[in-house]
Amino acid sequence: MRIALISDVHSNLPALESVLDALAPFDAVWQLGDVVGYGPDPVAVIERLRALGATGVRGNHDAAVIGEIGTDWFNDAAREAVEWTTGRMTSSASDWLAQNPHTRVEGAFTLAHGSPRDPLWEYLFSTSIARANLGAFATPYCLVGHTHVPVAFRESGDGVEAIVPRDGTVLELDGRRTILNPGGVGQPRDGDARAAAALLDTGAGTVTWRRVPYPIATTQQAMRTAGLPSRLIERLERGF
Ligand code: ZN
Repeated sequence: MRIALISDVHSNLPALESVLDALAPFDAVWQLGDVVGYGPDPVAVIERLRALGATGVRGNHDAAVIGEIGTDWFNDAAREAVEWTTGRMTSSASDWLAQNPHTRVEGAFTLAHGSPRDPLWEYLFSTSIARANLGAFATPYCLVGHTHVPVAFRESGDGVEAIVPRDGTVLELDGRRTILNPGGVGQPRDGDARAAAALLDTGAGTVTWRRVPYPIATTQQAMRTAGLPSRLIERLERGF
């Protein structure tokens, strides 16, 4: 099976479409949360993922939009975008967000947005945090998002090593326990403005990371029209 791994689409439809084109052909889509928030196309993104039969988990922005959590822990721009998004939800779009659990297991993989031990909030950005999470999932591999930064943390001797992938990097899943992050589709934060995603090939036992150019200006124009915060519009072209 070829599975498209996507996370943090954040209502950015042009980025999602470009990533889907680049990863095709695939048999399934697994999404790692934060489908909405920040961007201008929340319902269109949800309907696209629903049509693809995407399987996945709920992120902190998704949880805020459906009213599961408050917005006290969001910064001003993120809160404003959550409120804007909430006002545009249809009931079927909200239902789709709500049917995604906080964590789920698919074969050898545990899916979570932030981390397996704290799926809505923890940022898995260091080897020490990765190591502390190894006991929080029972499968060989774990897939996360939330940081919007592509990375793999793999068991190595007594510790955990970090692997920072580039476009085209292939990681062999060799049985060592590994936490993988495909990067962010809709708002990359590693200084590269291209959308980030990955392809899992369960037959070959590999994950391949990809960076995909997309029409950033199209998303930015839609955000301006929507009246979303300028800080969120500008950061897309910086990839940070
Ligand atoms: Zn996010």
